[in-house]
Amino acid sequence: MEQYRIEPGKKFKLADFSADDLGDFDGKKQKGNEKLAENRADLVELQELLYSEHKHRLLIVLQAMDGGGKDGTIRSVFEGVNPQGVRIASFKTPTQMELDHDYLWRIHSQTPGKGEIVVFNRSQYEDVLVVRVHNLVPREVWKKRYQQINDFERQLSEEGTTILKFFLNISLEEQKQRFLERLEMPQKRWKFNPGDLAERKLWPEYMKAFEEAIQKTSTKWAPWYVVPANRNWYRNLVVSSVIVDTLKAMKMEYPNPAIDVEAFKKQLAEG
Ligand code: AMP
Ligand code: MG
Repeated sequence: MEQYRIEPGKKFKLADFSADDLGDFDGKKQKGNEKLAENRADLVELQELLYSEHKHRLLIVLQAMDGGGKDGTIRSVFEGVNPQGVRIASFKTPTQMELDHDYLWRIHSQTPGKGEIVVFNRSQYEDVLVVRVHNLVPREVWKKRYQQINDFERQLSEEGTTILKFFLNISLEEQKQRFLERLEMPQKRWKFNPGDLAERKLWPEYMKAFEEAIQKTSTKWAPWYVVPANRNWYRNLVVSSVIVDTLKAMKMEYPNPAIDVEAFKKQLAEG
């Protein structure tokens, strides 16, 4: 899945990444789903390890256009994982209190503690995406934020937080199909937001903002992955594979407290 990781400092063109790409799994959906099931089982175990070891923190950032599948990714990838060890933080239009602080204030307060996995459904990147596209702050203000975000993420990383960032890349046509589905299916209609159609008109501006954000903030300590997301099963496979590989590389072990097991067993045997 390394093919989807954006090399720090290298020129990045979103147009080089197809939303339809299926990598080595082209024509192998069944195999992809088997691998996804394997990843889920691995993740259940790795999360237990992370929690019990109480040493590492894992932060997963999800960004996408509307309909890009952030919710579906969370539902699918974390299926079966102990809900006590995973927290989802969703960032909506900032409240008055959030606006009264700096833009990283609400973000920092939601970062993971030791042993915890936190998934950001939207993130600090909204402040260089929607905020840029809609001129919610002057250019000279958002321009500085790429560096600020890199510094912020580096600090988290130096203090023991592993950061993975995913851009779920759907095409304009796929978004149209998903919006139509939302309109047509009664159980999905609640998700349809008329405002999303206005955002859709700004697609090129958003792509430009995503391209620059990813180019400027894919770092060694917090890499971006551009995930082909037109097919849900492949998107889930890519995201889960990166997470599992990252957790495996931590070489975690269950704590083995120095206690006299035999003595305690004897005590228990005595009633
Ligand atoms: P949803 O995730 O579909 O519930 O929508 C959340 C909305 O909040 C989206 O339209 C985002 O663009 C918006 N949003 C999130 N963060 C910010 C931000 N920092 N500034 C302005 N709008 C934001
Ligand atoms: Mg929405």
